[in-house]
Amino acid sequence: MQIVEKAPAKINLGLDTLFEHPNGDKEWDMVMTSVDLADYVMLESLHTNRIEVVTDSGFLPNDRRNLAFQAVSVLKRYCHIDRGVRIKIRKAIPVAAGLGGGSSDAAAVLRGLNRMWDLHLDLATLARLGLQVDSDVPYCVYSQTAHVTGKGDVVTPLPKLPPMWIILAKPKVSVSTPNILRQVNYERIDQHPQIDALLAGIQQQDFAEIFANMGNVLEPITAKRYPEILQIKRQLLTFGADAAQMSGTGPTVFGVCRKQSRAQRVYNSLKGFCREVYLVRPVNLNEH
Ligand code: ATP
Repeated sequence: MQIVEKAPAKINLGLDTLFEHPNGDKEWDMVMTSVDLADYVMLESLHTNRIEVVTDSGFLPNDRRNLAFQAVSVLKRYCHIDRGVRIKIRKAIPVAAGLGGGSSDAAAVLRGLNRMWDLHLDLATLARLGLQVDSDVPYCVYSQTAHVTGKGDVVTPLPKLPPMWIILAKPKVSVSTPNILRQVNYERIDQHPQIDALLAGIQQQDFAEIFANMGNVLEPITAKRYPEILQIKRQLLTFGADAAQMSGTGPTVFGVCRKQSRAQRVYNSLKGFCREVYLVRPVNLNEH
């Protein structure tokens, strides 16, 4: 039996952290959405109790360091399953880019095995299991516009975004998420994004309110180490994006445009400066 699951990239329209839990985990306050740049995850039953991971990327680990592998382990343990699976991952999402590619692959494995093994677990249970793999996996289980709080485990779906186009631009650097998160100093954060106003903007489908209240509290930290992030952000705005900011811990920067013609122009212009540029739209995975 073979199952194919789509694993879309995510971006953070809003990203704030409020405090640190005693075990070092962050308390998040985020607005996330998924876009139509996606990996494909294929699952095949094996006759042995093995977990095999095959990817088309030369850089990614195939063992338990792969988040997709970890997702299988967590699910097998929870459901007491003695079956094996081969996971083939076709990567399209740049790695270590702030686009949640690994987390989305892990979430796709959870959704796919839930079907393949007839487990009948609901999305909330898959999300809870996903938190054991990475804090972005619960969101990626849903992969639809959502308010994400707690340690990443409280995912509240939001109305679909009003129609917009998104330009993703990834500078040629890879960012270590733990390294950036270690540098967060709560006393020195002087400006938190207005997540409540952003949520209100989405509820009211109000472009101006959404664009004015986007924000990422981690952007200054990553940009200090990689100044090209602010250069790309400036270029996105100069070429005509309605708003622009870094996604996750970076380094990918995205611009949003209400008008398709303008988004196309921004995309074409950016390609002169940055090798990895994508023109995408928001998607809701669970919408039929
Ligand atoms: P996050 O911000 O959630 O860490 P990211 O988008 O910045 O995500 P990923 O592409 O998920 O970054 O990769 C982060 C790290 O996870 C990399 O060091 C990579 O080697 C490792 N990794 C493990 N499994 C995967 C996978 N299936 N796809 C991509 N990266 C993976």
